[in-house]
Amino acid sequence: MDLGIAGKRALVCAASKGLGRGSAEALAEAGVSLVINARTPGPLEQAAADIAARHGVSVVPVAADITTAEGRARVLTAAGDVDILVTNAGGPPPGLWSDWSRDDFIKALDANMLTPIALMQACLPGMMARGWGRVVNITSQSVKSPIGVLGLSNSARAGLTGFVAGTARQVAASGVCINNLLPGIHATDRALALDGGVATAQGITLEAAAAQRQATIPARRYGTAAEFGAACAFLCSAHAGFIVGQNILLDGGGFNSTM
Ligand code: NAP
Repeated sequence: MDLGIAGKRALVCAASKGLGRGSAEALAEAGVSLVINARTPGPLEQAAADIAARHGVSVVPVAADITTAEGRARVLTAAGDVDILVTNAGGPPPGLWSDWSRDDFIKALDANMLTPIALMQACLPGMMARGWGRVVNITSQSVKSPIGVLGLSNSARAGLTGFVAGTARQVAASGVCINNLLPGIHATDRALALDGGVATAQGITLEAAAAQRQATIPARRYGTAAEFGAACAFLCSAHAGFIVGQNILLDGGGFNSTM
């Protein structure tokens, strides 16, 4: 399918690996030129070179911590007027509800709620003025189905979801669509690290830990970054102009509900 976005410009945050990388690859395949970001320069520059070589589009890497004001300013300056914004960053650490301090919450809110909001506040006016724009926020299945040990993530992402619910409906008349993609377990470094933790805690192999978690997913496997990226690119496409303010789960059926 021609996504109808060749020649557009996108900023994809936290995109040297994993779900951000998958999204960047799929947008590049659709002919979108990119600014991509991550903190570590080497892998980011390699990712930019690989994506550009594979898809023949311009890919500008900006090494910066997107959760800091200084990092965002550098990324946004390099990005300029973008038609597409994909927000993403690492998730907060696990822990216990009784242990988190105000500082822990502020850090999580900064990274996973206030950072995507600041990026939207920076990019939305230009998109609205030009009459076309797409924003996809990478959040988590934990928005719909809380994960106890990820209380910091549950809290911050719920706040972002509330902001998007109202804002998406305020900007839609300008041709700008904001939606959230909610990943379930995907085979990225993050998922492998979680498997490693389970393997160590239970004294089992990495493969056994992965098989145990996959058995809890109706699809009986993890998602892939490529599948995630394809869904993200569709939400950024010319065909997605009537999809507004939605929270779309990509979880292999893990969230058990009728609707
Ligand atoms: P990943 O494979 O570990 O990749 C994370 C990417 O983000 C890397 O490119 C990393 O590069 C970059 N990054 C991390 N923190 C950053 C920051 N502060 N500023 C700029 N770039 C940053 O992770 P992932 O699995 O794709 O996860 C992406 C998001 O989806 C996370 O918020 C995660 O919590 C959420 N999520 C993932 C899953 C899953 O199963 N994979 C499920 C639910 C939710 P550097 O380290 O070099 O910065």
